[in-house]
Amino acid sequence: MTSLAVSAHHAPARHPALAAADPELAALVGAEERLQADTLRLIPSENYVSQAVLEASGTVLQNKYSEGYAGRRYYEGQQNVDQVERLAVARAKALFGVDHANVQPYSGSPANLAVYLAFAQPGDTVMGMALPMGGHLTHGWGVSATGSWFRGVQYGVRQDTGLIDFDEVRDLALKERPKVIFCGGTALPRTIDFAAFAEIAREAGAVLVADVAHIAGLIAGGAHPSPVPHVDVVSTTTHKTLRGPRGAMLMCREEHAKAIDKAVFPGLQGGPHNQTTAAIAVALHEASGASFRDYAHGVVANAKALADELLARGFDLVSGGTDNHLILMDLTRRDVPGKIAAKALDRAGIVVNYNTVPYDPRKPFDPSGIRIGTPSLTSRGLGTEHMGAVAEWIDRGVTAARTGDEAALAMIRAEVADLMAAYPAPGLPV
Ligand SMILES: *Cc1c(COP(=O)(O)O)cnc(C)c1O
Repeated sequence: MTSLAVSAHHAPARHPALAAADPELAALVGAEERLQADTLRLIPSENYVSQAVLEASGTVLQNKYSEGYAGRRYYEGQQNVDQVERLAVARAKALFGVDHANVQPYSGSPANLAVYLAFAQPGDTVMGMALPMGGHLTHGWGVSATGSWFRGVQYGVRQDTGLIDFDEVRDLALKERPKVIFCGGTALPRTIDFAAFAEIAREAGAVLVADVAHIAGLIAGGAHPSPVPHVDVVSTTTHKTLRGPRGAMLMCREEHAKAIDKAVFPGLQGGPHNQTTAAIAVALHEASGASFRDYAHGVVANAKALADELLARGFDLVSGGTDNHLILMDLTRRDVPGKIAAKALDRAGIVVNYNTVPYDPRKPFDPSGIRIGTPSLTSRGLGTEHMGAVAEWIDRGVTAARTGDEAALAMIRAEVADLMAAYPAPGLPV
């Protein structure tokens, strides 16, 4: 990965037209570039896209309306856009080994809404993991449209193990008979047993959806089992571990292709974002290469090494560790609320998010944990040899959060910036 080699002081404007037209906005973009360059970004749903993905997202494909699907559009002038979308679809099918792919959903949440639209009526029962247990809002949680337009029933994890209790999932599914069952989530540090979910969905007569938004890149890179042989529909974002633009895809067996396509357009959306489709195609091409496999395995190796280092420092990790890219830290015994820790770490140049832990006695807006992950640091080239330092910074940062030691946080920030300067990322200043 390379970035523009310009010195900070005599740098030509990085975005000259933007700087001329709108200096105020250009300054904000510049500040964000600096922030992303200097900090250790540990939010597990974030990443750094390649220069090629950045460029594809910023093309004149932006200017085109293309309601419909390739070869079946409602507007003319699709000579190139049809080929762009066909390329993205073909690459998704090849990479994930699916019959059908729809690359038009604007993001993960609308993709999931399209799934409900395809397989359920308002008021029907749907089932997913509860948000405070690690599920996503769109898996039928109450404040989401998916939990108010549908009747959401929710499963969790066991308090003693932090793992999904498949007896509970089966009992709930057979009692409630949901139309749709979602597996997957946003704060699950362990491998998802898609086969176990499939058996339950079959018994209950439900459509099974694997929401792999977080782990799609690990699946593509062979670092997590694929749901494809087991589930009816795979929903994923394209911007998390998959390292593409902000967008989403729905993939399914041929029998569900029509229902999924109809739900996305015209059911839910208008014109697709063609510049995003193009960038998804690029990301899928990158994800089919050997270096992406190294990246995906590197993400998991880094997460396991970081978890080991944190355990050695006495931290409590939900489920005792990780199988994937994500670690959920319970800070209760460190006597620091998650939000205070997250905000202190942010001041130390370490970007995380505060997060509920299963059975959290604290409120969702002020929970007991923080959620961290290794995709971004792996994309920048950090390896297992760096995880001791990362764990030490987190340890010092959490302690400084408790004692209010701003000098300690400033010192960490300088050390972090020093390391990150040696690991540039695409599109960022050096
Ligand atoms: C991130 C995520 C989504 C939503 O994606 P957005 O693009 O933020 O709408 C849906 N499901 C899961 C499991 C996610 O992690």
